[in-house]
Amino acid sequence: MYDHTRLRDRHACGAAARAAAAALAPAGAARALAAGAALAGALGLSACPGRDAPKPVSPARPPPRAMAGDPLGADSLMADARRLSAPDMAGRGSYQPGGERAADFMAAAMTRAGLEVVRQPIVGRIDNVIGIKRAGPDAVLVSAHYDHLGVDSAGRVYPGADDNASGAAVLLGMARAAARRHYRHTVLFIAFGAEEAGLVGSGVYVANPVWPLDRTLAVINFDMVGRNFFEWGSGRRGAAAIVGLEDRPDLAAVARRAARAAGMDLVPVPARLVELFGFEDRTDEWWFRRRGILALHMSTSLHEDYHRPTDTADRLSPAQLEGVARTAAGLLEHLATTSAPGGAD
Ligand SMILES: [Zn+2]
Repeated sequence: MYDHTRLRDRHACGAAARAAAAALAPAGAARALAAGAALAGALGLSACPGRDAPKPVSPARPPPRAMAGDPLGADSLMADARRLSAPDMAGRGSYQPGGERAADFMAAAMTRAGLEVVRQPIVGRIDNVIGIKRAGPDAVLVSAHYDHLGVDSAGRVYPGADDNASGAAVLLGMARAAARRHYRHTVLFIAFGAEEAGLVGSGVYVANPVWPLDRTLAVINFDMVGRNFFEWGSGRRGAAAIVGLEDRPDLAAVARRAARAAGMDLVPVPARLVELFGFEDRTDEWWFRRRGILALHMSTSLHEDYHRPTDTADRLSPAQLEGVARTAAGLLEHLATTSAPGGAD
């Protein structure tokens, strides 16, 4: 999740900022400039960290063999979350070798899942990684950002296990599960880059969509889905929030059923409430919602390890990951097989 309270108008990476701003220009110049500056400033981390570092020579390791099992099971999801938050990924920072390694890992995993993979350049060496399962002319999007804060100027690594190796793991699990399904609609599995720099990758996607936005039925986004629910409050197991269903009681019922089957208590949160809290532009689905596309977002919420080096894989809840993945897979099954443009079934 993007922390806009740390937005800095830094110009240490002016060229990169201008490139990001240009890429985002169709989506709104003012925001593009802010996002570009944020990208350049890497959110208060060192200026353009790792920008001139050599490209890693070895490709990312393929996913472990355990992937042959249930792709929505806790073991498989945790394997990916651990892999993405492992030391050699170095916090998956934009402009840093770890970020590129994470993108390679996502692309390799999607290819192995049998999807057609497209890498959409964002700026510099940062890509959105998109796996496509083609069917009809309308598409459902499933998304999660794979980047995190990387390594700061003091050499501290931010593993970002919950933010957002957890969501990226759910994305991959759903992509593998989808490879075994037949859908009426095309499904795009999108791993966004540079989210922590101000929703930059998703902004680039919306400005230059791989699938036409007017043929995009819905997006389901995951950001921070691997901890007990709202650890600052209840810290309950078996619960997760979903944002954006308030105008679709039909889908809310589907989501509730899917959650119940997964042993989850799904907490519906209206997008308007998120807006009132000033959190609406902190996760990637925001770009889609403001374009009028049905934008759903799942999260187990913030906690004290948020954007700290202590956001590590051993603090994830495997059961929560599985519960979110199974709930979302039930929702995707419905959206990808029965929803029609305009929202009618
Ligand atoms: Zn974050």
